[in-house]
Amino acid sequence: MTQETTKIPHATAKRLPLYYRFLKNLSSSGKQRVSSKELSDAVKVDSATIRRDFSYFGALGKKGYGYNVSYLLSFFSKTLDQDELTKVVLIGVGNLGTAFLHYNFIKNNNTKIEMAFDVSEDKIGTSIGDVPVYHLDQLEEKLKDENIEVAIMTVPAGAAQNITDRLVSSEVKGILNFTPARLNVPDHIRIHHIDLAVELQSLVYFLKNYSGDDTELSQDTEIPE
Ligand code: ATP
Repeated sequence: MTQETTKIPHATAKRLPLYYRFLKNLSSSGKQRVSSKELSDAVKVDSATIRRDFSYFGALGKKGYGYNVSYLLSFFSKTLDQDELTKVVLIGVGNLGTAFLHYNFIKNNNTKIEMAFDVSEDKIGTSIGDVPVYHLDQLEEKLKDENIEVAIMTVPAGAAQNITDRLVSSEVKGILNFTPARLNVPDHIRIHHIDLAVELQSLVYFLKNYSGDDTELSQDTEIPE
C-alpha cells in the first residue's frame, strides 16, 4: 500500500476494492464520467458516504459533471497496488479451498493464489486450477522462498490456530480466515474473518425478523469495520 492509504479511514479503505471493480467496468465500457448517484446505485453505498470517501483521495466531483473515471481508476489502481501482483497461499484444499483454487481471483484483482498446502496424501503433489499443492511440512520453506505475506485459510477449525501461529512466524501479515475459529494473533497481523455459516444464518434471521420494515437491511452491502 502507498503512503496515501495510511491516512484513509479503515471503513473507507475497505470500500476501495468495491469502487475499483465498478470503475473498471465503467471504463471498459467507454464511460468517462460518473456521478455519485450512479456510483451509489451500482455499489449500494449512499452517495454522501461516497462523496466523503472520495474527498480523502482529493477527488472532488464537479456539480453537473461528476467524477472523472480515468482519474479515479488510476488513483485506485495505484492505491490498491494493482500494478504489482500480490501472491497468496491457500491452506486446506477441501471443498471450499478447491473452489478458490479454480476461481483464483485473478480476473478481478491483481492477486493470485500461488500455491496451496494440505496434509492429505491424495492432494499433495497434484495441481488444482494450475496451483500446486504441497505438504504442510513445507509451509515455512515455501513462504520464505516466495516471499508471500497473505494467506487464505480453509482448514477445519481445530487446525486453524496452530497454522496461524506458523504463518505469523513466517512473516505472513494478513490472513483471510474462512474457518469458524476465532484466532489469536499479535497486533501487527490483520485477520479478516468470513464465517459463511454465520453469514447465512444471520441473513435468514434478518429475513424472518426484519423483512419489509427496514429497507436498509434488505440490501446491506455496507462493509463493516
Ligand atoms: P471445506 O470445509 O473446505 O469444504 P471439506 O469439508 O472438504 O472442506 P475439511 O475437513 O473441512 O474438508 O478439510 C478441509 C481441508 O483441510 C481438507 O483438504 C483437509 O485435508 C485439510 N486439512 C485438515 N487438517 C489440516 C491441517 N492440519 N493442515 C492442513 N490442511 C488440513
